[in-house]
Amino acid sequence: MRIAVAKEIEVCERRVALIPDTVARLVKQGLEVWVETGAGERSFFSDTAYEAAGAKIIADTATLWGEADILLKVSPPQEREDGRSEIDLLKEGAVLISFLNPLGNPLVAQQLKNRKVTALSMELIPRSTRAQSMDALSSQASLAGYKAVLIAAATLPKYFPMLTTAAGTIAPAKVFIMGAGVAGLQAIATARRLGAVVEAFDIRPAVKEEVQSLGAKFVEVKLEEETTAAGGYAKEISEASKQRTQEVVAEHVKNSDVVITTAQVPGRKAPLLVTEEMVSQMKPGSVIVDLAAEQGGNCACTEPGKDIVWNGVTIIGPINLPSSMPVHASQLYAKNVTSLMQLLITKEKALQVNFGDDIVDAACITHAGEIRNQRVQEALTAFNTQQPAIS
Ligand code: NAD
Repeated sequence: MRIAVAKEIEVCERRVALIPDTVARLVKQGLEVWVETGAGERSFFSDTAYEAAGAKIIADTATLWGEADILLKVSPPQEREDGRSEIDLLKEGAVLISFLNPLGNPLVAQQLKNRKVTALSMELIPRSTRAQSMDALSSQASLAGYKAVLIAAATLPKYFPMLTTAAGTIAPAKVFIMGAGVAGLQAIATARRLGAVVEAFDIRPAVKEEVQSLGAKFVEVKLEEETTAAGGYAKEISEASKQRTQEVVAEHVKNSDVVITTAQVPGRKAPLLVTEEMVSQMKPGSVIVDLAAEQGGNCACTEPGKDIVWNGVTIIGPINLPSSMPVHASQLYAKNVTSLMQLLITKEKALQVNFGDDIVDAACITHAGEIRNQRVQEALTAFNTQQPAIS
């Protein structure tokens, strides 16, 4: 059984799918691990460190992809310089484990299906207790929440903590976190550690206690509809509820020095939470960090990948924040994919894709030339009806 770690070619991607420590554990387990030359370079793990852990370093990309039984990646497969997709390098029947963004870009599923690859999408790992060690959405969202606060603190022309000095007293910064999922809760904890006064808002009332236990005030909006969908995720809410929440949160946005938005609804464009009108009410010098920038943004003024200044307010729309902390992001991701792989490897070190396992079943989007996930199939059908058909 050969596990291969690809070098990421996406320009913004600095993470790597396995780190030397996890390689050593797999090798000890009796598995063969190949690592592409320079795969860990941008996350500060050298080829020498992988070799010392027992990996074989492979310089030829086509060999590494083509002879892998399980290919591990972080970012979804890309088009190469020669115009071919990385997916075309995989052998039939190989397993690909990666973030695949199959709902945002269902074409990837079509290509994987055509290639007869068994593809497991890290985004589709269920958020269950048993799958916690494999939950890469959580491990990476937590990094993003932490980093968002550091970016905000570095941009704000003020202190975060309250300070009493001989030159006078400094009032603490007011931070408002919108969306209290994994990223939001980590953002609350980080902003509190830096001494800010923190408020948080989420349409799921169930998070109130978690928010309060981190020392933040929960901004409550009573809505007359169910806001939680299956798996604990947020539902898309009605126009009336959107209106109601905007009325309540507007005052909190206005009074905040920093707003960090993290709200998402799986498979949909991110909800609009901060309107232009709200931004125009904020004090000059205030900062918004929009963690939903890649999904369309929670703020009307956000431009993905850019820092802009609008009416004196800095609005930051970071892309792939976890990748800006590649050492720990890779360490956590490596643990996530290693745990998932254990479900695919028998005691005899053979590959076994067991759809009786609910985690494998939920994460697998293509197998043996079929698309296995209904939502992905629906997204692909919708895509194909808008585009000329692809074979
Ligand atoms: P997410 O990234 O999908 O969304 C971030 C937050 O935005 C969520 O809390 C969501 O409720 C909120 N949101 C969505 N629309 C909003 C709106 N219009 N206004 C305000 N807030 C809005 O969330 P996530 O961090 O991936 O977590 C999703 C769910 O998964 C949560 O219930 C979480 O507790 C659960 N979870 C469970 C486990 C586990 O059991 N192992 C692990 C991680 C997360």
